[in-house]
Amino acid sequence: VSFGYQDIDASEKAGRVRAVFSNVAAKYDLMNDAMSGGMHRLWKDRFVRRVKPRAGELILDVAGGTGDIAFRMHASGAAITVSDINPQMLEVGMERARKKGLEGLIWAEENAETLSFPSASFDAYTIAFGIRNVTHVQQALNDAHRVLKRGGRFFCLEFSTTLWPGFSDVYDRYSHTMVPKLGKLLANDEESYRYLIESIRRFPDMATFKGMIDKAGFVQSNVEPMLGGLVAIHSGWKI
Ligand code: SAM
Repeated sequence: VSFGYQDIDASEKAGRVRAVFSNVAAKYDLMNDAMSGGMHRLWKDRFVRRVKPRAGELILDVAGGTGDIAFRMHASGAAITVSDINPQMLEVGMERARKKGLEGLIWAEENAETLSFPSASFDAYTIAFGIRNVTHVQQALNDAHRVLKRGGRFFCLEFSTTLWPGFSDVYDRYSHTMVPKLGKLLANDEESYRYLIESIRRFPDMATFKGMIDKAGFVQSNVEPMLGGLVAIHSGWKI
């Protein structure tokens, strides 16, 4: 399967994503704060408010990395599985959970495109700042639909394309010059951050991505743009 916005070879992309996140795992929080001016915390808070996790629910957080989303949902009493393709990110997450004294999270090494869970396993599926790194996005969306129960809900937090014209120019300049520099300065890794910015630029716009969610079989799909769509929450229901 190939999508128009992907012009790098699929296996090359998977390899690069692995290398990037292995490199950034240790400095992950610091870099997120530096790059977003701390705003990623607010976006994640809002995301979890939309998910509304409830006690007893089974929730799968995909591309869960160092646990940012799972930790925010933990107090709800939902049973949360944090999955990520990269064991180094999971290790940083497990260590953070231990330090925070959070118990009961399940950690699983999983590729979003080919989840090992049986169909109809979860009440909610979350993916935050993860799907743009997946090689075959439609395949990941299809598998999200598969693992959800009927009545289950899908939520995705991701960078998108802001529709505010002036802001879009400023952001473009910021991301292409400042972010790789911050990467070099704080994590001694300019290339990884160049890749991350590139992956944001290549990702489909809000309407296109919403179409892909519909195509996976979700209904009542919805987009909630933030900062004009620089970041967006996409959601949908499985019926
Ligand atoms: N959800 C976390 C957050 O919001 O802080 C982590 C986001 S981090 C930017 C992206 C994560 O996606 C990385 O941990 C990376 O290993 C993971 N990832 C990349 N490709 C993946 C795939 N095909 N399946 C599952 N996870 C993947």
